[in-house]
Amino acid sequence: MAEEAEKEVTTFEDFKLNKQLLNAIEEAGYEKPTPIQQQAIPQALAGHDLFGIAQTGTGKTAAYLLPILMKVKYAQGMNPRALILAPTRELAMQIEENIGVLAKYTDLRYTAIYGGLGPKTQIEIISKGLDIIVSTPKRLLELYLKGELVLKELKTLVLDEADKMMDMGFMPQIRQLLEVIPRKRQNLLFSATMHDKVVELSEEFLEFPLRIEITPQATPVETVSQVLYQVPNLRTKIAMLEYLLKDKESFNRVIIFTRSKKNAENVAKFLERKEYGEVRAIHGNKGQNTRINSMEAFKSGEVRFLVATDVASRGIDVSLVSHVINFDVPFVYEDYVHRIGRTGRAENEGAAITFANEAEMYHVRKIEKVIRMEIPQEPLPEEVEIHPTPFDEQQEIARDIDHQKRLANPDFKGAFHEKKAIPKAKPAKSKGDPKNSFWQKTKKKGGRRR
Ligand code: AMP
Repeated sequence: MAEEAEKEVTTFEDFKLNKQLLNAIEEAGYEKPTPIQQQAIPQALAGHDLFGIAQTGTGKTAAYLLPILMKVKYAQGMNPRALILAPTRELAMQIEENIGVLAKYTDLRYTAIYGGLGPKTQIEIISKGLDIIVSTPKRLLELYLKGELVLKELKTLVLDEADKMMDMGFMPQIRQLLEVIPRKRQNLLFSATMHDKVVELSEEFLEFPLRIEITPQATPVETVSQVLYQVPNLRTKIAMLEYLLKDKESFNRVIIFTRSKKNAENVAKFLERKEYGEVRAIHGNKGQNTRINSMEAFKSGEVRFLVATDVASRGIDVSLVSHVINFDVPFVYEDYVHRIGRTGRAENEGAAITFANEAEMYHVRKIEKVIRMEIPQEPLPEEVEIHPTPFDEQQEIARDIDHQKRLANPDFKGAFHEKKAIPKAKPAKSKGDPKNSFWQKTKKKGGRRR
């Protein structure tokens, strides 16, 4: 229970990553390593080959990137020392973006190359010197064969979504590449599934690999009913929350999940000011004792609302939680399953309600793939006032949507098309809270929580 939860919390500091990486992790808002990161990072740092079975949404990208960033450390020489192969340009771009986030405080040079665009710009970037390269197999081979890319200094090779690469028929290119790159290297292979073909590849490609398997708890418990509301903005999310919580009888023990500590604090303070009932907030910044006390108070029924970030979600073992409200959508998709699993425990009926703005709907669709079901959507109740979206928040949402479209189609040029800083791509801001003055506006003096 509470103690159990504490044991589970390995921190990023435990991995002995350098300061630059820890700062970037903190800035990205990652409070603690996901299960795949907990298992993979120490092993990869120790130099082992890995065979990781993990889907998108588990945090697998950072699981291999952080050890690579530790190893490559700083800009050096002209030729890449780490190569990450991905089946699609969408994934290649996503990985590049993740490097952007995690390598922010390093001087590392990196880029993603893929087909569908002429190679000229990519060749120019390569010629300026690179430390890490992300690529789809065909384009990589093409540039290598043209003599534009030197691969003899590679020390780490990652095959991401290896099963998809095989399904897409990239095996011949991968084989050709394996012939030309240094034999002495670290190999990290990630796949969403354990198809025979992937196992075969792993036997051929990996040396004494450690297998790490993250089986997402992919099916939500049956006793939990789920519903999704598309809510345009933060102010309306609050209105919707207020609307629901008026029903004191059925919403008697509620956990409200947020993605960030800041939102958790703000939601908790808001509820407190409105005096809907006792509130506690638990997140990564709260000490162990505070967290245990909050949990106990919630368990005993003394506290009606628990506002929590995902860090806390796994440790909450309270039966009779009437509702889980996802105030925002988790980006680690597995966390959705963990969050909603906090209700409907021990055969009790439970309900999970998710609020998603237009940009978050993209992640809802991905979550639906992970849980292999559609979350039933309902229109906002008529009584809930739909507030206009403030300019800043509107910009943030539009930027997120543009960003998603750009990932799906690199040629897409939206209103917020962000010019790629070359060779160091500046990641589009897709996470964190919309900068919003709403919380400030609702602040009243005297609101204080124990
Ligand atoms: P991936 O499975 O690598 O596609 O990651 C899914 C999402 O989770 C991405 O948006 C990451 O930025 C985010 N993420 C990765 N690691 C963590 C973490 N430890 N805590 C919170 N979010 C994370």
